[in-house]
Amino acid sequence: MDELSEENKIAKPLFDGLLSVVVPCRDEEEMLPIFKAEFLKAMSEMGNPKFELIFVEDGSSDGTLEILRKMSADDKRVRFISFSRNFGKEAAMYAGLKAARGDFATVMDADLQDPPSLLPEMFDALINGGFDSVAARRKTRDGEPPARTFCAKWFYKILNALSPLKFTEGARDYRLMTRRVLDAVLELPEYNRFTKGIYEWIGFKTKWIEYDNVERPAGSTKWSFFGLAVYSLDALTSFSTIPLAVAAVVGILFCILSSIAIVLLSIRQLIFHNSAYGWTSMICVIFFLSGLQLFCLGMLGQYMSKIYLETKRRPHFIVREKSE
Ligand code: UDP
Ligand code: MG
Repeated sequence: MDELSEENKIAKPLFDGLLSVVVPCRDEEEMLPIFKAEFLKAMSEMGNPKFELIFVEDGSSDGTLEILRKMSADDKRVRFISFSRNFGKEAAMYAGLKAARGDFATVMDADLQDPPSLLPEMFDALINGGFDSVAARRKTRDGEPPARTFCAKWFYKILNALSPLKFTEGARDYRLMTRRVLDAVLELPEYNRFTKGIYEWIGFKTKWIEYDNVERPAGSTKWSFFGLAVYSLDALTSFSTIPLAVAAVVGILFCILSSIAIVLLSIRQLIFHNSAYGWTSMICVIFFLSGLQLFCLGMLGQYMSKIYLETKRRPHFIVREKSE
């Protein structure tokens, strides 16, 4: 960063080629003008390179679409895709990345929680550092409810223990990538998308950049606690089949244990003839085992529902309106 002296910043674009920036937005009317101003500031600090902003309007119920229509009419570098209903951030990112024409691409939240000011450092690593992609990671989660931070920590612990891929805590969808990496991301057309997992799965040389959490300047989060919990389970089952194996192993273990118990209990019954004895422990075991069985069934159901959805081959999203 030091080598970017004041005059270099303005004299010449920081990179050659086109940068595509995908911005998923749902109910972001308050944020859009702030976002665009902040983004343009970052671009001018980078010597005004060529870029396209691809806003993906994901079934908003406020004035987001009107603002996007106007923005793209006023500025040819702004494009938008508008969905017929809310398809979720994952679908929005996929739509935007598919539409990207750039030599470089990135995904940014509309709420500026993925600061555009990191771009110069990211480009430096991509162009001079020989990296294929540069990923952003939040070091802190200041300003977030403590319960959410706690669950997120545990989610990453469990995910990493149960998945062959290594997931980084605090990783964002915000990542600058070359065309080659973008094409690789698009080669995974699965319906149940978990982009952070896809990034890990495709590999490539990736540099991590850390930054302090930024709070949303306007608007509010679109994620409920329950929504995040379902998303976490999706993430786990999308990139790991280990939970299935765990269920099987635990099942076998309990079969062995119960066989031993059956033998021991039968012997006791033959010797002492006191069958009413041990009712409490019996109930406990029944409760525990039924719980375990339901859990394993639920796990199986998770995978089955994935198969079900994938085999339908439904589109990820339906476009209602586009800028071009
Ligand atoms: N978003 C979206 N579709 C959704 C939910 C969210 O496109 O169904 C967008 C949202 O407009 C924002 C980004 O995804 O640009 C991140 O959402 P949010 O800030 O609500 O999530 P958080 O930062 O709280 O995890
Ligand atoms: Mg946010």
